[in-house]
Amino acid sequence: MFENVNKTPLEDIGEFGLIDRIKSSVKIHHNQTLLGIGDDAAVLNPEQKHVVVTTDMLVEGIHFDLRYMPLKFLGYKSVAVNISDILAMNATPFQITCSLAVSNRFSVEAIEELYEGIHRACDAYKVDLVGGDTTSSVTGMVISITAIGLVNPEEWVGRFGAKNGDLICVTGNLGAAYAGLQILEREKKIFLENPGVQPDLDGYDYVVERQLKPEPRADMIRQLHELAIKPSSMIDISDGLASELLHLCKQSACGCRIDAEKIPIDTHTWKVAEDLNLQAITMALYGGEDYELLMTIRQEDFEQARMISDLHVIGYMTDDIGNCHVIDSQNQLHPITASGWDTFRSQSKD
Ligand SMILES: [Mg+2]
Repeated sequence: MFENVNKTPLEDIGEFGLIDRIKSSVKIHHNQTLLGIGDDAAVLNPEQKHVVVTTDMLVEGIHFDLRYMPLKFLGYKSVAVNISDILAMNATPFQITCSLAVSNRFSVEAIEELYEGIHRACDAYKVDLVGGDTTSSVTGMVISITAIGLVNPEEWVGRFGAKNGDLICVTGNLGAAYAGLQILEREKKIFLENPGVQPDLDGYDYVVERQLKPEPRADMIRQLHELAIKPSSMIDISDGLASELLHLCKQSACGCRIDAEKIPIDTHTWKVAEDLNLQAITMALYGGEDYELLMTIRQEDFEQARMISDLHVIGYMTDDIGNCHVIDSQNQLHPITASGWDTFRSQSKD
């Protein structure tokens, strides 16, 4: 996908030239950012709040595949996944830093495309790009983003506060990002076997977009705040509902029971499941990369929580430590295990 013909090699402008170009398109959204890119370090003002910090490294060939991931989307997604982690602490993201290692296979234009995606995510979620580093790599690309958020001291939420009887809720719908990945993988395979064939993504736009351009649920955190609901525990769904539920149960010393029929799954995801002979419920449980929020709330907050239209109660926490189950439409109980991924794979056609 990289045609370097007529493109500017990175060495033509050098590291400082690249930083100047990046800096020229940075917008600062917050007064809390006192000094951004261009000095030895950024200066931030946390204004009596607690500071929440997270970092994530993405390596080409391990975490992303540029054969179907356009650079603009990669930039957007790299920022989005970090914002999602800040939100999962019930905090508001304010700044990011971005460090990048690239080989000489990437042109100036390619890096600018990546940064276009980064800037778009910064604008969409009102975060300031305040620093980073660029360096060369022998092969491929590595992106490391650090996100910084703020939260009122009494309002941050960890994975460990759930209690027996708390309601388990998820935002949005699950399994769509995995469905999108399956479609992209299918098209990649066809393309590799027959490079003349154009990808056929017709009717799959929704799931493909969920894979390429996840939107972390800042809107949900805002609504919870407005309704004065503080979740008892929370995590974002990056590795799949099952895995995240096990984290909450383990760190809160609880068990849980969820209802398979209550897990929200979009009609587009059902369609992919049907087309590829996969189980939608398994995709929702084990697929990952949806970047929705999984949280527990106290029962007394239920009436208020019902006012949030895209928040779905799927089960409850129990005091049966370590026993995590999903109940199906025939009232059968299935243990939720971390090895669900393998179960899932063996169900796929190939
Ligand atoms: Mg996370």
